[in-house]
Amino acid sequence: MNSSIALKVENVNKIYLQGGKHVEALKNISLEVKTGEIFGLLGPNGAGKSTFINILAGTVNKTNGFINVWGFDLDKNPRQVRASLGIVPQEINVDPFFSPKKILEIQAGLYGVKVQDRITDQILELTNLSDKANAYTRNLSGGMKRRLLVAKAMVHQPPILILDEPTAGVDVDLRRKLLESVRELNRQGVTIIYTTHYLKEASDICDRIAIIDRGKLVALNSTQELLKNNSDLEEVFINLTNKENEHNN
Ligand code: ADP
Repeated sequence: MNSSIALKVENVNKIYLQGGKHVEALKNISLEVKTGEIFGLLGPNGAGKSTFINILAGTVNKTNGFINVWGFDLDKNPRQVRASLGIVPQEINVDPFFSPKKILEIQAGLYGVKVQDRITDQILELTNLSDKANAYTRNLSGGMKRRLLVAKAMVHQPPILILDEPTAGVDVDLRRKLLESVRELNRQGVTIIYTTHYLKEASDICDRIAIIDRGKLVALNSTQELLKNNSDLEEVFINLTNKENEHNN
């Protein structure tokens, strides 16, 4: 695979079976994420964003299609795929009684990172948590806890970081700081896949954006190109969904 492509997704479908009914959560999705970019995955609730991320994370199986992460086929090399990805979850899932440093050390252990290969202090620095390294995590602010989730996803130094709605419920100031950490990681060479339903945030931070709606990829372009004939992403989205509805009627 071309090394300038970090993630390649081809004709991926996901059908959930729920109460005897089929729910088509992803419909023939194909896309590529380039190495070094901040790639936005946008869509309203129920669009299929979590399904997409959970498939990459290996917690949901795709129904069919092909996925390659950092040169590794998801079906043939799931361990290498896992090692190539850092996933920042929506929910804060850190032990409140451990310090950030301890949490990162435990996580590194879970990923089998040898003690001499750990970069705990560097990660704390990068996520702006050095001065809280030994504090009780329960005493951290909401924004700091979010940055700790980012730090936790980085212990095995994955080349690709996936952030799943990382700013949901975070206030403006903390959101700004979190986005700054994401930008810094990107400057250090980490490819970022960012899902959000905050359209403004996506247009601020993402180089390219994919929009999915009801399981279908309805747009994929550079942020600049998407905003060329529209005042903001909100308008892009409204135009796209109108078109889609016309098409379906
Ligand atoms: P998003 O993250 O964009 O809000 P999801 O991936 O959570 O979207 O959901 C996409 C669709 O798949 C929705 O219609 C949702 O109800 C359905 N869905 C998600 N998870 C399951 C599941 N475990 N079983 C059945 N249907 C599901």
